[in-house]
Amino acid sequence: MAALAVGWGVSGAPADRRSLLRQTAILVAIGIAPDLDLLIGRHSMETHSVGAAVIVATFAAWQRWPVASSRLMIWLAVALAWMSHPLLDALGSDTSVPIGVMAFWPLSNAHVQTGWEVFGPISRRYWRDDFLAINLRSVSTEILILTPILLATRWITGRRGGQGNAGLRGGTENRETSDHQEAAETRRSRRGL
Ligand SMILES: [Zn+2]
Repeated sequence: MAALAVGWGVSGAPADRRSLLRQTAILVAIGIAPDLDLLIGRHSMETHSVGAAVIVATFAAWQRWPVASSRLMIWLAVALAWMSHPLLDALGSDTSVPIGVMAFWPLSNAHVQTGWEVFGPISRRYWRDDFLAINLRSVSTEILILTPILLATRWITGRRGGQGNAGLRGGTENRETSDHQEAAETRRSRRGL
């Protein structure tokens, strides 16, 4: 969700459904991807870092992933979307050693954690009785905090007319809407006369 919010924040949400769905799917996948490190047993390490974000963003910009109109914006959206994951992890509570995420790799191998514990812990001890309760609580806090942020970004970028996507949809749309508004205003003022 956070990945989606920053993605929209950077590049705006496209108006047409197909592009929006495609962009949403990519951003959400980027938000989840760092945790694939669980599969290789290096959790919260290299993938949860600025270094990984830069690598993925550079690849995305090179391959022109359809999340923004220009290479620069694709890079920015993907890098920030990727970083939103370790950031949120660092804001959460971590109960397994080493505590925190290797956020500054490759510059530093230190694990960092804010200690703020904004978000609750996610338990992977599925054999325990409180597994579901703990995770349900954490997930609902996350949804509670992130939904307003996501909606606000959507609203703001929606109002901005998703200028960032001018290249994707053509600047014509903005012009059309303003023409439309102008026409409506003229009609209104005529009626007023
Ligand atoms: Zn993680």
